[in-house]
Amino acid sequence: MMKTAQKTRAIVLRSLDYGESDRILTFLTDEFGKLKGIAKGARRSRRRFANALEPFSLATILFSRRGSGGLSFIEGSDVINHYAGIRADLDRTLVAAYVAELAEQFSVEGKKNLPLFELLTDFLGFIECGQMTETAERFFELRLLKSAGFEPVLDRCVTCGTPLETIESPRFDCREGGIRCARCTVNGPDFIPISVGTLKTLLLGRDIDFARMTRIGLSGPMARESREILGCFVRHLTGREIKSLNVLGEIRKRYT
Ligand SMILES: [Zn+2]
Repeated sequence: MMKTAQKTRAIVLRSLDYGESDRILTFLTDEFGKLKGIAKGARRSRRRFANALEPFSLATILFSRRGSGGLSFIEGSDVINHYAGIRADLDRTLVAAYVAELAEQFSVEGKKNLPLFELLTDFLGFIECGQMTETAERFFELRLLKSAGFEPVLDRCVTCGTPLETIESPRFDCREGGIRCARCTVNGPDFIPISVGTLKTLLLGRDIDFARMTRIGLSGPMARESREILGCFVRHLTGREIKSLNVLGEIRKRYT
C-alpha cells in the first residue's frame, strides 16, 4: 500500500512508552484534529525525534497512515517549543499537564479544530511566561469549552432567557451547562448557587486577551465557586474525573 507522509504542527497530549524502544502518542494537530500514532524507535533515535515527543511539546511532525483508522506512523519530528520554562517549575508543569489532558478530552480524532489548537499553544506560551494564576486556569477552561462547542451559558437563564442582570440568586445547572433563574430552579443536587459577581468576572475573563488576563482576579469565594461550577460541568461532559486536576489540587494543598 502506498503511504504518503504528511506534515503538521502538533502538541503532544499524551506519551506512553511501548515495547523496548517505541512510543505511542496522542497529538493535537492544527490540520487533523486529534491524532494517535506510534513512533518506532523513539527512545533510541534522539536524532530523529529529539525532545519533540515529550508531553506538551510543540513540534512539526511527519506522519503516514497505513490503511484507514488505527495508529499513524510518526516518521520524524522537529521541536518548535519544548517549553523549558514550564518544565523547570512543578506547578507550571502540572498546569500544562492539566490543560493537555483537557484538550485531549475535548478534541476529536481526525476532526480539525484550529481554535482549540491555537488556544492550547497560546496558553502554553502564557504558562511559560510566568504569570500563572488559578483565575487564568478558569478562563482557559471557559475558552476550551467554547472552542469544543460546549460554552456554558452564564449571561442569562439557560431555560427562559432572563438576563443575568435581573436574576437575583442564580444557580448553575451542570447538566444543562448554564445558570437558572429562581423561577426555573427546581431544587436538585446539581444546582449550585453562584454569585452574580463571579458570573460577571467569568464573562469578562472569557473575552479578554491573555496578556491582560492577570489584571482580573477571582479571589476567595469567587475562586471556589468558579472552580466548582466549571469542574462539575467538565465532569458531566466527560463522564470522568480529570486526573491531572486532582494531582494539581493535592500538590497545591500540600505546598501552599
Ligand atoms: Zn429562568
